[in-house]
Amino acid sequence: MKLQAKTTLLTVSLSGAMIVLLITVSLVSFRYFSLSTAKDHVRSAAEIVRVSLTEAMINGVIKQRLQFLERLSEVDGLLVARVIRGPHVVAQFGEGFEGEQVANSFEREVLTTGKAIFNMVEGESGPTFQGTIPFVATNVGTPNCLACHKVINGTVLGAITIHLSMSRLKEEALITISIMFVIVLVFASFFTYFFRMQISPVVQTAQGVSDVVAKAKDGDFSGRIDYRGSDEMGVIARDLNQLMEHLQNNLGNISHDVSRLMRYELKGNTNLITTTTEMVETLLEVSQFKQAVEEDQTIQEVYTRIGYMLMENFGIKNFSIYEVSNDKEYIKPVMVDGDVDGDCRWCNPEVLHQADSCRAQRTGHIIDSIENEFICSKFMHDEPVDEPVGHLCIPTFHSGIVGSIIQIVIPRQHGHLYQKLMPFIRVFLRESASTVETKRLLDTLRETTLRDALTGLHNRRFLEEYLETLLATTKRKEQRLSFLVMDLDHFKEVNDTYGHDVGDLVLKSLGSLFTAQVRNSDLVIRFGGEEFLVILQESEDYSGRQLAEKIRQAVEKLAIQIPGEVLRKTISIGVAGYPSDGEDLWDVIKAADLALYEAKRKGRNRVEVYSSNLQNLDAVQK
Ligand code: GH3
Ligand code: MG
Ligand code: MG
Repeated sequence: MKLQAKTTLLTVSLSGAMIVLLITVSLVSFRYFSLSTAKDHVRSAAEIVRVSLTEAMINGVIKQRLQFLERLSEVDGLLVARVIRGPHVVAQFGEGFEGEQVANSFEREVLTTGKAIFNMVEGESGPTFQGTIPFVATNVGTPNCLACHKVINGTVLGAITIHLSMSRLKEEALITISIMFVIVLVFASFFTYFFRMQISPVVQTAQGVSDVVAKAKDGDFSGRIDYRGSDEMGVIARDLNQLMEHLQNNLGNISHDVSRLMRYELKGNTNLITTTTEMVETLLEVSQFKQAVEEDQTIQEVYTRIGYMLMENFGIKNFSIYEVSNDKEYIKPVMVDGDVDGDCRWCNPEVLHQADSCRAQRTGHIIDSIENEFICSKFMHDEPVDEPVGHLCIPTFHSGIVGSIIQIVIPRQHGHLYQKLMPFIRVFLRESASTVETKRLLDTLRETTLRDALTGLHNRRFLEEYLETLLATTKRKEQRLSFLVMDLDHFKEVNDTYGHDVGDLVLKSLGSLFTAQVRNSDLVIRFGGEEFLVILQESEDYSGRQLAEKIRQAVEKLAIQIPGEVLRKTISIGVAGYPSDGEDLWDVIKAADLALYEAKRKGRNRVEVYSSNLQNLDAVQK
């Protein structure tokens, strides 16, 4: 219930209660005083009758008492004045006139008890007060009752019944109460009006405060209170108006700045508080995200973090993160639906080999199939999904070109929701873009320093960095490794005969041959000038010696096309194994080197497996 209605109800109820109370009190008082006055009148009348009768008795005119009583009845308001003879008087003087006998139980009781009885009845002529007063014989005073009546002192001689009309009194009471009612009513109305006048600014201001605050809760601070009084309400209204003004200006500015920071266009009807809070929270999360991304060691960690950000911050389950190769030739999915290196699921795999067939990569625009269902023919959504889906592809730029693409797959019916989230998602991507770019650059650089420029194989530096990790993994998995140290036979001759460039060509061809001969899990390293190292994980049907022999034969058969002729070369290979030939991997490499030396010594183009004898031989030769 509103305050105005409440106050009105309160004042009306108070006034009503006051009127009822006053009238009740007045009625009760009036009745009490009326009865009390009537009682006095009856007693006075009875006394007059008694004195008059006594006088009549003394003067011997008692027989004319009826005329006296009739005259008395003519007194205004006195309806009945009747004398009743008691049994003693009847016994001494007879029955008396008609009407002087006991007429009812009240009179009988009065004659018996000697006590007066009064009561109020609603008679034919309106409310009537009836009283029966006893006449008691006494020997005190003049005349002495006992002088005429043969009774003892205190005997009830008779009684007088008097009926008084109360109609006039009732009328007067009603008029008085009506006047009082009118006065109280006027006063109560005036009081209600005055009270409402007084409470009106409070009500008006309270209503104003309520409206302004309700608007403010929806982020609209344009509401103001109209009340301009100089009382406390005026102060509240003015202060609240100032507060709103302050909030409108400052929050508006903050919101505007934050939205600029997020590159988010604020709509006219947006809730300033919630939108700004959301934006500030996002910025905070973005800043934490950015810091975490900067502290990530590898680019894959960064991609994984972006994936988790999509899943945890935005509840996106289906998505792909693609990395565009530096030469923009191909695209590689680095995370699909939360799986690192997951298989391409949401795009035609054709785009993986033809980067340009990816629309987001080619155009650098956001591709939105929620808005435009057939925008991209490569979006693949024929896989069984519960509901129709659409996608959003967001390209991220590295040094001005598309470096990665985030593809979000969402139910079409929630499309508009995700479109709204887009500015928020894009802030995360934008903020991580430079770090992704730097990390990719560093990875590329690092990759270059760890690879041999001529053959494209890993170099010795890579080996130095890698051996520790390899040893730990091998120990953990309890694997056996084989090391093949390979050195071309009489390579110097190639340089000397055909020149350095041809020498390089030979090295390149051999590099390719080695890579082709080993499994993906094996490593080929250009160890020195024309020395190579192969590290392989041994298994029952795959030993170092077998591979070495396979390589030796392949080299022997290899026809190297050089300008003008075909060149054939041979290779010598030393083989040693971990853990059989050394606890430390460098020791194993050294053992393989000794075996290689043995192969050279024994005439080249052969494979030698390390044995402890070689160690002794080496010691002797030194
Ligand atoms: P051996 O059978 O005993 O191994 O005879 P070799 O002639 O191969 O002797 P050695 O292994 O000592 O020869 C190494 C030669 O490899 C010396 C150097 O001219 C050549 N070499 C090393 N690195 C390169 C390179 O990057 N390019 C070219 N063209 N030649 C290189
Ligand atoms: Mg050599
Ligand atoms: Mg050599």
